[in-house]
Amino acid sequence: MILRTENIVKQYANHLALDNVSIEVPQASIYGLLGPNGAGKTTLIRIINQITAPDSGKVYFDGHKLQETDVYSIGYLPEERGLYKKMKVGEQAMYFARLKGLTKHDAEKSLRKWFEKFEIQAWWNKKVEELSKGMAQKVQFIVTILHNPKLLIFDEPFSGFDPINVNLLKTEILNLKKQGSTIIFSTHNMASVEEICDYITLINKSKNVLSGQIDEIRHNYGDNVFEIDYRGETDKLMENIGNNYQVLDSGEQKFFRKIKVKAITKETGNALISRIIKDAEIINFNEIIPSMNDIFIKIVEDDK
Ligand code: ADP
Repeated sequence: MILRTENIVKQYANHLALDNVSIEVPQASIYGLLGPNGAGKTTLIRIINQITAPDSGKVYFDGHKLQETDVYSIGYLPEERGLYKKMKVGEQAMYFARLKGLTKHDAEKSLRKWFEKFEIQAWWNKKVEELSKGMAQKVQFIVTILHNPKLLIFDEPFSGFDPINVNLLKTEILNLKKQGSTIIFSTHNMASVEEICDYITLINKSKNVLSGQIDEIRHNYGDNVFEIDYRGETDKLMENIGNNYQVLDSGEQKFFRKIKVKAITKETGNALISRIIKDAEIINFNEIIPSMNDIFIKIVEDDK
């Protein structure tokens, strides 16, 4: 585990922002922090970054209790980003890189490489105030990852980006993982979660309501629903399936039939296949696995 929080509690004047939140983030993974607005995600991120202190609970980083010097090993991209408007982009990026401890030579070399990669070389001498939100975000992203921190934390990294730049960012996040960094990011964008996260925690109303490996979670929330395309007699198929299944939908295509069934008591896909294969030719067989979006909505709605 590169990061572990243990029973974090944070109380603001009249609001309990985090209620006993524990998370475990494995090394070299991409970890999504999900939850509706106001759930407590940013508060947790700020605690990990030592911007604010918890009332109780502990944070462990890389095998030891989180300490001040760990800020050099953690890169943080906050949602509310501050660049100095009057400074030039390159100058500003150099300033941040030097703050992170890079020499002038290394900072410039590395920044030039990244500016090229993100195709923003032409902005080096422009003033920050000339940048659009997305452009400024790119610069901040570069500055955050430049010193190769072990842990990267991005608060809503995809907001304000068009789909092309979202992809660029996703690719870079995956590259960073390949190189051994661990990435935690908060988001409302569930598609990005399914695409790149290995683990998630869902925070709702200040509590950790769901944590784990993403495929495992999706499977666990499966409703035992299967979709089958087949050739054969429907009556025969129904007879073979038996009465443990409820038919949710069925239809005729030109060359095959479709049926969607739900197992009333849990059965594996294999068990169902063995029932129907006797008298039908299976063209397609799918277990319907809920999306993270469905799971998010279900949990948050049920918890109202
Ligand atoms: P999220 O990032 O999940 O949207 P936040 O962690 O920003 O949620 O906020 C959680 C709750 O704590 C919100 O109700 C917010 O209003 C409150 N909160 C956050 N920061 C402060 C603060 N400095 N003082 C008082 N309340 C705060």
